[in-house]
Amino acid sequence: MRDAAPTTIYLKDYTPFGYLVDSVHLTFDLAAHATRVTSRIAFRPNPDAADRTFFLHGEELTLIRASIDGVQITPEVTDKGLTAPAPDAPFIWEAEVEIDPGNNTALEGLYMSNGMYCTQCEAEGFRKITYYPDRPDVMSTFTVRINGDLPVLLSNGNPSGKGEGWAEWTDPWPKPAYLFALVAGELIAHPGQFTTMSGRDVELNLWVRPGDEGKCAFGMEALKKSMKWDEDVYGREYDLDVFNIVAVDDFNMGAMENKGLNIFNSSAVLASPETSTDMNFERIEAIIAHEYFHNWTGNRITCRDWFQLCLKEGLTVFRDAQFTSDMRSAPVKRIHDAIDLRARQFPEDNGPLSHPVRPESFQEINNFYTATVYEKGAEIIGMLKRLVGDEAYTNALDLYFDRHDGQACTIEDWIKVFEDTTGRDLDQFKRWYSQSGTPRVTVAEEWADGTYTLTLSQRTEPTPGQDEKLPQVIPVAVGLLGPNGDEVRATEVLELTEASQSFTFTGLAAKPTASVLRDFSAPVILEQDQSNAERAFLLAHDTDAFNRWQAGRSLAEDTLLNMIQSDAAPDADYLDGLLAVLRDGDLDPAYRALMLGLPTQSELAAALHENGETPYPMAIWTAVETLRQVTAQHVQDLLPRLHSETVIDAPYNPDADQSGKRALGGAALALTSRLDGGAKATEEYKTADNMTLQLTALSCLLRASKGQAELAAFYDQWQHDRLVMDKWFGLQVSMAAPDATADVARNLTEHPDFNWKNPNRFRAVMGALAMNHAGFHRADGAGYALLADWLIKLDPVNPQTTARMCSAFQTWKRYDTDRQALIRAQLTRIAETPDLSRDTTEMVSRILDA
Ligand SMILES: [Zn+2]
Repeated sequence: MRDAAPTTIYLKDYTPFGYLVDSVHLTFDLAAHATRVTSRIAFRPNPDAADRTFFLHGEELTLIRASIDGVQITPEVTDKGLTAPAPDAPFIWEAEVEIDPGNNTALEGLYMSNGMYCTQCEAEGFRKITYYPDRPDVMSTFTVRINGDLPVLLSNGNPSGKGEGWAEWTDPWPKPAYLFALVAGELIAHPGQFTTMSGRDVELNLWVRPGDEGKCAFGMEALKKSMKWDEDVYGREYDLDVFNIVAVDDFNMGAMENKGLNIFNSSAVLASPETSTDMNFERIEAIIAHEYFHNWTGNRITCRDWFQLCLKEGLTVFRDAQFTSDMRSAPVKRIHDAIDLRARQFPEDNGPLSHPVRPESFQEINNFYTATVYEKGAEIIGMLKRLVGDEAYTNALDLYFDRHDGQACTIEDWIKVFEDTTGRDLDQFKRWYSQSGTPRVTVAEEWADGTYTLTLSQRTEPTPGQDEKLPQVIPVAVGLLGPNGDEVRATEVLELTEASQSFTFTGLAAKPTASVLRDFSAPVILEQDQSNAERAFLLAHDTDAFNRWQAGRSLAEDTLLNMIQSDAAPDADYLDGLLAVLRDGDLDPAYRALMLGLPTQSELAAALHENGETPYPMAIWTAVETLRQVTAQHVQDLLPRLHSETVIDAPYNPDADQSGKRALGGAALALTSRLDGGAKATEEYKTADNMTLQLTALSCLLRASKGQAELAAFYDQWQHDRLVMDKWFGLQVSMAAPDATADVARNLTEHPDFNWKNPNRFRAVMGALAMNHAGFHRADGAGYALLADWLIKLDPVNPQTTARMCSAFQTWKRYDTDRQALIRAQLTRIAETPDLSRDTTEMVSRILDA
């Protein structure tokens, strides 16, 4: 069933539901194409609600029977739900519905993946399971009985009964329906145990399909570390007797924090040294922590409505970033986060899909699980912490947990705990939640008579629906360096609250060099007129690890822009500065590897566009290739030393130390391959005993237009492993030369292992196509047409994944008129597809309306 005219839902229209739910009892009789769901729900009138309309959400359900207080009724049923006359007093609602999990390819609600039943209810999937007030502010305890002939039957909470062909689960903690979960299948547990801070024993299980038992140990350890960390840092203890994690192959997202029964995309939990890269391990550790941390920030305290999504996501992303910083290297994590924010959130916030961290309207909430809500949402928490200080932050969080445990809250509630603990007025700060667009901060400096004046100005470009922008509260961390490189003023947080403001530093012996926006203290674009010499000076001396990296990054970007715009030769300051950093054996190898990174080609296109120039993807690609080649020659003599420095004489461990060394070794191998035609990479491929080394060597070979034999061998070695095969698919598209990318991708879609209904496999190919900048933007439009073909094909099967991938086109207005016309034609073709889903319709129309 599709919508004729999608309706827009507004934050300002929020009203509470007319009834409260005291308890929910569900019985599932599982059958692949005819699962029966019987519900028994205790309702009572909500004293805080004016409207007593008894409307229950329900989609794609066959209603068998319904009753109120035992009396059969015939509700008015539409494709959105049902309405029935209900008493203005407590009553029991009972209903039986039939659903078809076997044909549920959208992967929302109850569906099947390789013979296993599983659920995904966030945001609005529960309404595809039974009739219910499917909104986060309706919370209840749940008791669930599952009848089915599969050996493992799981739901939320604690086990409360079990027999041949059935199991019962009781969740004592009131929760919204989006946290409901059910799993049934032939699964094997990797067990674990955790004793909480108050001495309670918790049984832990990581459930996987037979054959995956060897990939569980790391995830289990990550879970235990997360549980301990949340006790140590936030004082938060786990609150059930069991904690289950299940790995599922077909999953739209990374993972889901259902109470006591987290469901994970298998790519986000299964790991072994042979099949997973260091980056996979780090991501898995972070996602397990993230979902676990939701138990308090999301589950115990949830969101009043979906506009408040950032309340749980921003905070939980911030918490998982703190966790990763503590487990690994804080500067490296901060740099990774800034790279990620600039690559994913900045384009979103500066294009047609721009929206506030707390949106004010939506047609399909699934389209708002965005980098803005998650990552910018986390940056806001980081700024708040920086502004109030660590101690006040801890006090505010304690108050938040005390005051709001068991509630469904808003951003206002969140801000209020900070106001109440600090006495600060945070009204202006709240604009971070309502104002979209990336603020730009311009820096001007003055020096006279021992006084250094820094003038900071802010502005934000208009974004869809928001022409006028007001000044925001921007914490700008600044330090000053003297001429000899010593720090003459330690880091200080300047609070920029006006459109323009000056800050003075007195008593200085000589004109200092300012290091501005240290530790990336705010998610803004810094516009600072700095000479290459100043940047090289900061690259050599800055005591702030982030800004030292940033100085190198800015030098690299300027070099590339000059190469693109005026055919300039690569800049010597950049090359020499880089060489000095690489030579510095005291620096963390992971950090040195990051120094070798370059801005993405998409970022360079954005920078050109902002300078008023038209970005040409092939010109950008050529400049990057040239700079890489020149860099390889420039650091040539150092490469053997980097290779020997990064040899690891110990069993594989994905920790920060080893993975940093492998990252630097891999970066060095990429440069070496540009000089030796892939000879060393061929050798390394032969001896690689873990996936990080194997994949690094293979990508070096593919980039050198070699490696076809290795690619075939890799396939033979790993064709049984679906997660490794995702890498095999993705790598070929990522490493393809610009003119070949679309053809490589098209050929792969014809491969027998291209199971396009599996979101991971689809994204492996189509995501890599969209990310290969010059390849995707091939002048004849072949990349655009191929992606559009597949989005049109996927939409009726999986609207959520289709809609999300439409964002590949969000930057279309940057490019030349020919490319714009080609993209517009593809977007129009998608938009005009008959029966296009609500998800995709909303995304395409927002992009086209730009
Ligand atoms: Zn989350």
